[in-house]
Amino acid sequence: MSMLPLRNCLPYDIVMNDVVAQECPFCRSANVLLPLKPDDVSSMYGGRRKIMLVFPCCHGSVRMIDADADYLLANRPIRGK
Ligand SMILES: [Zn+2]
Repeated sequence: MSMLPLRNCLPYDIVMNDVVAQECPFCRSANVLLPLKPDDVSSMYGGRRKIMLVFPCCHGSVRMIDADADYLLANRPIRGK
């Protein structure tokens, strides 16, 4: 993913068996528990699977088209300018 635009990347952490976004790109809530499991994220590696992610904090949604061990990749810019 090194060639991909950072503004499309959402950093996340795996905590136990949960996936936590460091910050919601829509409402800026911190440490948002995502409706994903670590296996869902690993199934997205290399763009093998795409998902519509809905943030539980504000119901903001974005299509995630790729992932690696540190980031989910959105199909559009989601981070600060
Ligand atoms: Zn939010």
